[in-house]
Amino acid sequence: MSDTTKRERVLTGDTPTGRLHLGHWVGSLENRVNMQDEYECYFLLANMHAFTTRAEQPAEIRQDTIEIVKDWLAAGIDPERSCVVLQTEVPAISEMTWFFAMLTGYGRLMRNPTIKTEIEVKGLGDSYSFGFLMYAVGQIADILAFTPKYIPVGEDQIPHIELCREAARRFNQIYCGVDPKTEDADYVEAGAVFPIPEAMVGRVSRLIGTDGVNKMSKSLNNSIFLSDTPKQVQKKVNKIFTGRQTPTEPGDTSNALFQFVDAFMDDADRVAELKARYETGDNIGDGEVKQELGAAINAMLDPMRERRAKYDAPGGDDLVIDIIRDGTKRANETAEETLWRAKEAMGLDFYRRTLG
Ligand code: ATP
Ligand code: MG
Repeated sequence: MSDTTKRERVLTGDTPTGRLHLGHWVGSLENRVNMQDEYECYFLLANMHAFTTRAEQPAEIRQDTIEIVKDWLAAGIDPERSCVVLQTEVPAISEMTWFFAMLTGYGRLMRNPTIKTEIEVKGLGDSYSFGFLMYAVGQIADILAFTPKYIPVGEDQIPHIELCREAARRFNQIYCGVDPKTEDADYVEAGAVFPIPEAMVGRVSRLIGTDGVNKMSKSLNNSIFLSDTPKQVQKKVNKIFTGRQTPTEPGDTSNALFQFVDAFMDDADRVAELKARYETGDNIGDGEVKQELGAAINAMLDPMRERRAKYDAPGGDDLVIDIIRDGTKRANETAEETLWRAKEAMGLDFYRRTLG
């Protein structure tokens, strides 16, 4: 990269537990694509974390890792500008996970509402692994290894980001002598190794699923995937549940269908017209709205389908692995530098190592 001015950094990532869906697009992916010019971006494949709930499925995790990169590339992530980072090949992340495990209270971790919800929704009961709890600590290291300013995520990630911000403050206070009264924005100036990063939530913080009840989620069978065919998209749109019976029944435009309309139909005048007719029951069936919505989603996905074709063709997986290798190499330079600075602060700077 030729520019000499230092750009601020962005870090975020996905766990390879399945393909990406429209919720990912509006919650985080769209922001990532748009931030690539202005920021130095690192996009992490959290493949180690996939093992926290799917330890018995290594083959699926491997394939999902590749598929997520294809989703990113299709969405417009540019591997020339941004680093695609494979978590398991960044040793600094695993090492820093230990540092932050020491600075995170067990009770504090267990009160994290995202962890609680995940244990419940994924039916983990009390049989979750020790590693499952560790992933929330690991995520602190994932983020801080790249000292980002922003973390583009959906709303459900906010509690995790808050844990990360607390751990960063503690590290800086204990090992860098930063005064606890320092404002978050002033930490670096005060001698911190880690800036206090901020979550950046997308234009839809929590897209509802096609079931009309839960958040759209890879694991809940209520998703429209970025890689779905036009037919699959329309079929899923047709199934969005509203409970409305006839075209003349006054409808509620805060229902799931109109949450999708608001998220994916750009023509504001047309949306206003549809809403007005729907609310008064002016002879407008759900089917008519769903047809227009399906067409709008497909128009948005078409350029993604074009970009994806190259990677779905024979040899595509090898192209993806090359992109991962290249991005991870660059990411390791950044993460090793951060780790060294953290070690210096902690008195662990006996000698400097190099990765082979
Ligand atoms: P899982 O069911 O395995 O938890 P998921 O669909 O929730 O999968 P994640 O990998 O947990 O996906 O999330 C990746 C990113 O996408 C996170 O930043 C998350 O906040 C965001 N995200 C996921 N689902 C939605 C959604 N429905 N609306 C907005 N953002 C979302
Ligand atoms: Mg999730």
